[in-house]
Amino acid sequence: MTTGIRKIEAKEILDSRGVPTISIEVTAGENSKGIFDVPSGASTGAHEALELRDGDPARLNGRGVLKALQNVNEIIAPALLNFDVTDQAGIDKRLLELDGTPNKSKLGANAILGVSVASAKAAAVLKNVPVYMHLRDLADVSPSRKVPYLFMNLINGGLHAHSKLAFQEYLLVPQTESVEEALRIGVQIMHEAGRLIKEKYGPTFTNFGDEGGFAPDIADVKEPLNILFTAAKNLGLQDKIKLSLDVAATSFFKDGKYNFGGRSSNTEELLNLYHEICAQFPMLSMEDPFMEESFEDFARLNDGKVIVIGDDLTVTNPALLKKAIEMKSISGIIIKLNQIGTLTETIETMKMARAANIECVVSHRSGETKDDFIADLAFAYGAFALKSGAPSKTERLVKYNRLLEIVGQQ
Ligand code: PEP
Ligand code: MG
Repeated sequence: MTTGIRKIEAKEILDSRGVPTISIEVTAGENSKGIFDVPSGASTGAHEALELRDGDPARLNGRGVLKALQNVNEIIAPALLNFDVTDQAGIDKRLLELDGTPNKSKLGANAILGVSVASAKAAAVLKNVPVYMHLRDLADVSPSRKVPYLFMNLINGGLHAHSKLAFQEYLLVPQTESVEEALRIGVQIMHEAGRLIKEKYGPTFTNFGDEGGFAPDIADVKEPLNILFTAAKNLGLQDKIKLSLDVAATSFFKDGKYNFGGRSSNTEELLNLYHEICAQFPMLSMEDPFMEESFEDFARLNDGKVIVIGDDLTVTNPALLKKAIEMKSISGIIIKLNQIGTLTETIETMKMARAANIECVVSHRSGETKDDFIADLAFAYGAFALKSGAPSKTERLVKYNRLLEIVGQQ
């Protein structure tokens, strides 16, 4: 069987916010094709790998990705011609060598990741196996769950909404092994929460944020938890769900203070608020509860009562994860491919996390595409959860629907 890469093609497409992103098609062997559409974040961590944008204000507000395309066509494609597409570690090593910078700023993490993941998808086609099976051939990661929980972001704030709500994500996590049941619970509670918001605040408060959750213009950071829990109770589903938060605290941290809800809080006050929230609601996890450099503050919340998740803190980076493990900062980690920029490094981070008993939450970005690769990634390695927004927008639903399809094939 010939397994060599024959062609790599790059295209500029638009993501769910109407912002340019890159789509890569890798062709290997006879005619095995893999396509990956790269996502893009809004509340990005300072230490993420660099997403290369053109910076030409005359074209798409400087957000075009033509330079990244050029890097694929002129540098990456010739270097990977005839490379064994099933050798993911070799492909990613070559990509890192071609770039040569610590944060992938020469070629762009968007260009590099596109090729890395599209290669894995082409390899699965070539082997005639589902993507998750090919991923399992690449690495062993200690699984956490047979089927990941769904982290559904039903109320959006922070940088994903134009509202007074400072906390970024209010997530519903159905407590079931069944993806079908989890989705059913998710949509029922979403519709009931919408009804409650409309009744109390009026219909414009049910407009959607970037991840398909409601974006009510309210300042009280506890109110969305009230709404979701009341919706669950109204349906008799309160024992079937837990709630999670992605505070994304860096986005409202300035001059040593957390500025939200019309007040300015210090770390102590914020920690007290989290303890109150955990006493009042069935909280499963808290993501980025403090700003992205505060490993010690994360550790203070990480007392075993709630899963403390690093996202901007750890940016899927093995070196930052190592630090978080040493400082006992987290018990969960967000896994986002484009924060680090290659599939191999992403898997390395997942492996390291699981070896330290840290839960992996495989996540979409707020700027998404039709791509469903993360569902295969989450399932392949038995991730704790798949986080893909609200079940209301296609770019979010394709990931949940892919997980449903995979589970149906078992
Ligand atoms: C997140 O912060 O977890 C997230 C998905 O948002 P973004 O993609 O904007 O970083
Ligand atoms: Mg986050």
